[in-house]
Amino acid sequence: MPISVITGAAGFLGSHLTDRLLAEGHRVIGLDNLITGSLANLAHLDGEERFRFVRHDVTQPFFLPEEVGFVWHLASPASPVDYLEHPIQTLKVGSLGTHHALGLAREKKARFFLASTSECYGDPLVHPQREDYWGNVNPVGPRSCYDEAKRFAEALTMAYHRTHGLDTRIARIFNTYGPRMRLRDGRVVPNFIAQALAGEPLTLHGDGSQTRSFCYVDDLIDGFWRLMQADCHGPVNLGNPDELSIRDFAEKIRALTASRSPLEQRPRPVDDPAVRRPDIALARSLLDWEPRIDLDEGLRRTIESFRGRV
Ligand code: NAD
Ligand code: UDP
Repeated sequence: MPISVITGAAGFLGSHLTDRLLAEGHRVIGLDNLITGSLANLAHLDGEERFRFVRHDVTQPFFLPEEVGFVWHLASPASPVDYLEHPIQTLKVGSLGTHHALGLAREKKARFFLASTSECYGDPLVHPQREDYWGNVNPVGPRSCYDEAKRFAEALTMAYHRTHGLDTRIARIFNTYGPRMRLRDGRVVPNFIAQALAGEPLTLHGDGSQTRSFCYVDDLIDGFWRLMQADCHGPVNLGNPDELSIRDFAEKIRALTASRSPLEQRPRPVDDPAVRRPDIALARSLLDWEPRIDLDEGLRRTIESFRGRV
């Protein structure tokens, strides 16, 4: 039975990936220090003997006795609010944490997967973003702790591939949402849904003309699975190219929740990207992958899962 190690397993994406790998017949060892994740995301796996949780900060080295076939490195704060609160931890997990996860994969002769991000493109001057665009990142701005950590993580992954022949994969993930996101993790999807369900104003940053493209979690995890099976070492965009403005997104959430919450304008965060949309031609041709769940359907499922929690 293949063994997968997931760093960041107690997080939003890590817990969904754990479920998918168990369904595919893997054993899963989940590492997490719970800085932004929660054991509640894994509570449904109590008694599952193919899953083991290890509470560990991956910026410290780790050793496992088992043979490992796959290392999936997801550990990192991911919401701007979280990484602005933990900038040094974010830089450490992207650098030292990635180094340790790569070291584990090398030791075990395992395949390695890096959860990278569309933030590598920064505030993009090319639209939509293709993998061969090098990005427009402010290296010293408040978001740099995340952007530069991920860019370093990609560089280190490629260096391990080129120097040690490690079998590596890099997914550049665009905004993804779904059940198990933290209600108030600061990202726009849980923020707006929680605000709308609670009857509070929806906090619109700036005039809301900035755009994003949202992917439902099940589609993304399917992309992860396909990418791990494919033969490709360079970065691959995974996301939903369906782009809309944040103001339109707020209106959509109000409509889907039948909420009368007003929109309340707040200052735009520094270096908040003006546009973001993945070009997924590479994923389409290489992985035969594209998102299947449209925004309305994905949001309905997400809103349902949030209802009991607000
Ligand atoms: P999340 O915050 O829910 O999950 C991250 C997990 O990593 C948490 O459980 C956290 O406790 C854990 N973690 C952080 N630092 C750690 C450390 N030093 N040691 C051990 N565990 C640690 O966020 P998510 O949305 O699930 O994101 C998962 C990964 O995907 C991240 O690497 C993120 O950068 C990447 N990503 C996510 C999105 C998205 O839209 N969800 C977009 C781009 C990239
Ligand atoms: N945003 C907003 N209101 C909020 C939270 C976020 O208008 O309460 C905006 C944010 O400024 C950005 C977009 O929504 O333009 C997406 O933000 P998020 O934090 O979800 O992710 P990002 O794409 O910036 O990493």
